[in-house]
Amino acid sequence: MRVYDFIAIGGGGAGISAAGLVKRAGRRVAVVDHGAVGSLCALNGCNPKKVLVRSSELLDEVHRASDFGIETGEVRVDWSRVIDRKETFTRPVTADTEQSLRSLGIDLIQGDSRFVAADEISVNGQSLRAEGILIATGSMPRRLKFEGADLMHSSDGILALRHPPRRLFIVGAGVVAMEFGQVFARLGSKVTMITPDPRALLEHEPDLVDALLQFSKHELNIDVLARTNIGSVRSEGDEFNIEVESDGRVQCIEADYVLNAAGRPPSIDDLALEAGNVERNGRGVVVDDFLRSRTNHQVFAAGDAHGRMELSPVASYEGGAAARNFLEGDVERVSYDSIPSIVFTVPALATVGWTEASARERGHDVSAVTSDMKDWTVFATAGESIAKAKVIIDSHSGRVFGAHLFGKGADENIHMFAMAIRFGISADELRSMVYAYPTFASALPYTLPEIEGKQELRKAG
Ligand SMILES: Cc1cc2nc3c(=O)[nH]c(=O)nc-3n(C[C@H](O)[C@H](O)[C@H](O)COP(=O)(O)OP(=O)(O)OC[C@H]3O[C@@H](n4cnc5c(N)ncnc54)[C@H](O)[C@@H]3O)c2cc1C
Repeated sequence: MRVYDFIAIGGGGAGISAAGLVKRAGRRVAVVDHGAVGSLCALNGCNPKKVLVRSSELLDEVHRASDFGIETGEVRVDWSRVIDRKETFTRPVTADTEQSLRSLGIDLIQGDSRFVAADEISVNGQSLRAEGILIATGSMPRRLKFEGADLMHSSDGILALRHPPRRLFIVGAGVVAMEFGQVFARLGSKVTMITPDPRALLEHEPDLVDALLQFSKHELNIDVLARTNIGSVRSEGDEFNIEVESDGRVQCIEADYVLNAAGRPPSIDDLALEAGNVERNGRGVVVDDFLRSRTNHQVFAAGDAHGRMELSPVASYEGGAAARNFLEGDVERVSYDSIPSIVFTVPALATVGWTEASARERGHDVSAVTSDMKDWTVFATAGESIAKAKVIIDSHSGRVFGAHLFGKGADENIHMFAMAIRFGISADELRSMVYAYPTFASALPYTLPEIEGKQELRKAG
């Protein structure tokens, strides 16, 4: 039996950040992982995806270059080189992470872990006991049950694909589906995606999602079929025939590649949680606001393993919070109100805080304005054909409840609203700032509901 103060099961963003903090406090720490450490984000998520998005964005800019007086001649894409470039970022991750664990003096134990008691796990038949155990095992692609489900590829697969498919079929219409859908549509793939939900990107502000869908259809010919279920996937040679059903109507769609982007449930099925008296539900490990298991206070969960907000910075933030709560005794409640999330389409759809509907559902009297900014000078001179914003504020205090931006710069500018929500900066205070011009951020004060002189200033700008 090996005894530690703290064990992180999972060497991704959540596990590594927690382990580092506890170790720096002088405690004995181990990280257990059954695969490659370094995080989904760095290996098969955020970073490699952003490499692909950037290449497709550049391709889009090159295609539009003549609008700006620049002739480029014939453009050829060598996607295999894009994947090579991606690998320059992903390849070193695991070795670098292992090295950093070693240099901190954290034990890395490779293998599958299972709870055998409230404070004890077994890895490869060896028992490890700790005062605190963090479940940071992340998530995995949803297992769908239909004929031919095993013919689908996960996001790991499409990130390694060296030749874009002629026709790409995506099961799901969430963030990952939108991002890969746009990347491959820009490379020339005919993209179709389906969702059983009434609309795509269900948790985002509907006005801006509609704008994204219209843009994706009009500019990139992406079809998004809502209220549609998959019946089967059958392979015929190199092709796939996909049967889908919508409102009782069955149709067949042909594709060369089928991507499973139907969400990622927590990866906790093999942990024997019941032996550790750790409660779980359909979303993941059930935790309180201090990230402790509600049924076993020695156990914490962070990141995708409890599925509250599946984002990389959230995993690291929660890993840190769990570590501090372990070391100092429930000193930090987690809060998600001011954490922005981005759909990395081109342009990006960025969101923070509440939608208009969710603010009203909470009983608030709100002012909400949707601004179409494409003709505003900063967007027009940049040659942007789409730019929208919707900001939701409290009608009485001017407190910012939520902001949703779709357009160039949205992924950076959303942080101004995140800061406003986090530190209680009101709409009036945001308006009172002087913004550098001509920047996309300089448009933001005019997106805040009820601004006097908006028209005149916009024309002048
Ligand atoms: C295609 C894609 C794109 C994404 N893009 C973004 C983005 O742009 N921005 C963003 O913020 N987020 C993005 N995400 C989400 C982000 O990657 C995750 O939310 C984040 O990495 C989760 O971190 P984690 O620490 O919870 O889990 P992970 O980083 O997945 O780490 C979990 C670790 O646990 C290990 N493990 C699992 N089960 C066991 C077990 N039984 N025993 C031992 N070890 C185990 C795994 O091997 C892994 O190393 C993306 C995700 C995907 C799939």
